Amino acid sequence: MSNSFAKDIDGKAIAACVLEEVAADVRELALHGVTPALAVVLVGSDEASQVYVRNKILRAEQAGIRSLEYRLPNTTGQAELLEVIAELNADPLVNGILVQLPLPASINEGVVIHAIDPIKDVDGFHRHNVGGLVQGQEVLTPCTPSGCMRLLEETCGDISGKHAVVIGRSNIVGKPMATLLLQAHCSVSIVHSRSVDAAALCRLADIVVAAVGRPGLIDASWLKPGAVVIDVGINRIDTPEGSRLVGDVDYASARAVASAITPVPGGVGPMTIAYLLKNTVIATRLQRKSALMEKI
Ligand code: NAD
Repeated sequence: MSNSFAKDIDGKAIAACVLEEVAADVRELALHGVTPALAVVLVGSDEASQVYVRNKILRAEQAGIRSLEYRLPNTTGQAELLEVIAELNADPLVNGILVQLPLPASINEGVVIHAIDPIKDVDGFHRHNVGGLVQGQEVLTPCTPSGCMRLLEETCGDISGKHAVVIGRSNIVGKPMATLLLQAHCSVSIVHSRSVDAAALCRLADIVVAAVGRPGLIDASWLKPGAVVIDVGINRIDTPEGSRLVGDVDYASARAVASAITPVPGGVGPMTIAYLLKNTVIATRLQRKSALMEKI
């Protein structure tokens, strides 16, 4: 039996390539007098959200995307937030709108997500985009699953015909991930909290995408030798040395069985921001195309 370890899939390096592509797209749009603009709306003072928003804005600016920051107090009501979104929808100089989740409990997330103009919905959560994705149309697609697809493309090339198992069925990761894998011609299974023997199903997979939110749930016993493992999970755990981030996959045991694996951190995380910016460019292009069509 081979005792070689899985190759690490370097999300940081691949995200850097995506950000270069975005910067090149931004330069091309500048030739037409267009600078893509991303509006980021943060309600309240959730610490993790503040960090995410700061990173998104920093990366946007590095790629030449104009960023607009709307920091609203925790006391902001739903009607007030909807007014901000309506203004951003109507502003032709704003190409992408991102409302950082989670929102305070008094605000209905579904109502807010569906108030965003689908052509500016850079998170790809609006039902118009979700439906379009299922039908294989040119729409804005959720950032984390798009980033995972790019990691797979860079690692495996053509994944047509592979058996992929997605662990988790959330609207933001699991379901769109399974849809994208299906579009790439994989045979796809989704396992979730009610699956009977999720590990046995997972052992059939050539590709495993874990998006659960349980530290180290998936260990070597869940994996077929040679499987490619994408770990979306981000979990903070306390250790005697202090707190640290780990994924849903028990990296140490999994890498003895898998052929390639994303580390946490440094795997999927950087791809999510990179694809948010890619979506901002895609949204800008879709808006220009739709403005041209209106003139015809
Ligand atoms: P979620 O809580 O919305 O969904 C979790 C899913 O896991 C559910 O569908 C549930 O059925 C399934 N599940 C729970 N227990 C299970 C079990 N024992 N076996 C199999 N399935 C089980 O979570 P989410 O928003 O999809 O996020 C999942 C993880 O991914 C979290 O750790 C989150 O922080 C992380 N995440 C990371 C990024 C990134 O950029 N890397 C982006 C989004 C989410």
